[in-house]
Amino acid sequence: MKTCPQCQKQIDDDLSSCQCGHQFSEAFPPTPLRTQSAPVAPPASADPRHIIGGILVALGIVLVAYFAFGYDTMIEVSVPVPDHTYSLPEHVQNMGLEINRIIGVMVGLAVSLAGFVLIAAPSPKK
Ligand SMILES: [Zn+2]
Repeated sequence: MKTCPQCQKQIDDDLSSCQCGHQFSEAFPPTPLRTQSAPVAPPASADPRHIIGGILVALGIVLVAYFAFGYDTMIEVSVPVPDHTYSLPEHVQNMGLEINRIIGVMVGLAVSLAGFVLIAAPSPKK
């Protein structure tokens, strides 16, 4: 409760004006709207190596994901059908592409590992 300075009545705190017409807006300003954004907390680490490490980790994960799941190692070949004069297209695993895929996964793992090392490694002495 608050007391109206004009008529001395007890007024609920959540009322902004009294029955007598007194406005409490000055003494009890309404909660200001947050027009200013909250102060941005400084990043946990401003170490550029951590940023680079994070990028490397993300890049490595993308590489691994692409080569592990998105890389098509199947190729279409024409397989002659015995006793027929035509060939049927068939999808077979291509060894070269499969090797590319393994290399891609390994490169991705190496890149993300390098990123992790960058993040985890202690900062060099200044
Ligand atoms: Zn009043």
